[in-house]
Amino acid sequence: MSVGLEVSGVAVQLGGRAIVDGIDMVVPAGSVTGLIGPNGAGKSTLLRAILGLVPAMGSVSFCGTDLATLPRRARAQFTAFVEQNSETDARLTAREAVMLGRIPFQSVWQASPSADDLSLAEAALAAVEMTAFADRLYQTLSGGEQQRIQIARALAQQPRLLLLDEPTNHLDVHAQLATLDLLRRHAQAGATVLLALHDLNLAASFCDSLVVLHGGRPVAAGPPELVLTPALLRQVYGVDATILRHPGTGRPLIAYDLPG
Ligand code: ADP
Ligand code: MG
Repeated sequence: MSVGLEVSGVAVQLGGRAIVDGIDMVVPAGSVTGLIGPNGAGKSTLLRAILGLVPAMGSVSFCGTDLATLPRRARAQFTAFVEQNSETDARLTAREAVMLGRIPFQSVWQASPSADDLSLAEAALAAVEMTAFADRLYQTLSGGEQQRIQIARALAQQPRLLLLDEPTNHLDVHAQLATLDLLRRHAQAGATVLLALHDLNLAASFCDSLVVLHGGRPVAAGPPELVLTPALLRQVYGVDATILRHPGTGRPLIAYDLPG
């Protein structure tokens, strides 16, 4: 696997407080890495810091290029980000919202999207099973439908580096599995995928490796079967659990012990 994303010494201070600190990680190209950790651990802040959306110390490079040295448009031609709560202009249809992903590739002189832009947008809509919703106003879609459109917008960008912040939090179980499978296939085609996830069983099933944040600091990293231990779940989330194995895949399956 070739080097994808390299994060070194990243730290963010907000309101005079260290929100994330001492982040060193590598996400190899062709793999999916899950960022996990409790509410407020710093997952969203770290993703935003990687993309230069929040002032940060340290360095971030992708395939050897320091991201901070690139103009915004150049960066947008190979990176895509699905935020936790994305806002989109109220008057856009779902298809137009997906077409936003093609803007970094369009010249300012271009009167209308190219045939390539249109076909990439249609393919992305189909990939998230939203073709039937293409002409609906984005604002009239449910939270889960909007989330699938945001993922389609990111895929239409054909990003080599794809960052997503809890991309499955509004989705039903079919859409959760379909979305993570889509992201895994995107990685298998060569992309570098880093995503924040809350559902640890989904993270264990789909991610090649996990990075655990706790209080803004990395406390564990590696393959799910090594990272997801009862001791870690107790330390980081304050829960007791038994770790089973999925009978088909051998991946960890977390059975939570009920409190009390
Ligand atoms: P996560 O995504 O893991 O839930 P966040 O990165 O959103 O965590 O937030 C990490 C911590 O940083 C939280 O305690 C949050 O309240 C705090 N935080 C986020 N943004 C700001 C800000 N602009 N100013 C001060 N604190 C912030
Ligand atoms: Mg968050």
